[in-house]
Amino acid sequence: MKITVDQNKCIGCGRCSEICANTFRLNTQGKAEVISTEKSDCAIQAADECPMEAIFIEE
Ligand code: SF4
Repeated sequence: MKITVDQNKCIGCGRCSEICANTFRLNTQGKAEVISTEKSDCAIQAADECPMEAIFIEE
C-alpha cells in the first residue's frame, strides 16, 4: 500500500495519528509523516477524515 502525506497541505492537526497511530505520527516540524505502509483500514479512514485532504493512498 502506498501512503503519502502532502507536507504542503498538512496543517498538523493530528487527526490521522489519533485515528491510525501505527501508520502516522507528527514529526518535529508538526507535520504528519508515514511510519508504516502496511495495509490498514484505519489509514484509509484517516485519509477520508483529513480536513486538508493531504493523505494519498494507492493500493
Ligand atoms: S489529518 Fe491531515 S492535516 Fe491533520 S495531521 Fe494528518 S495529514 Fe495533516
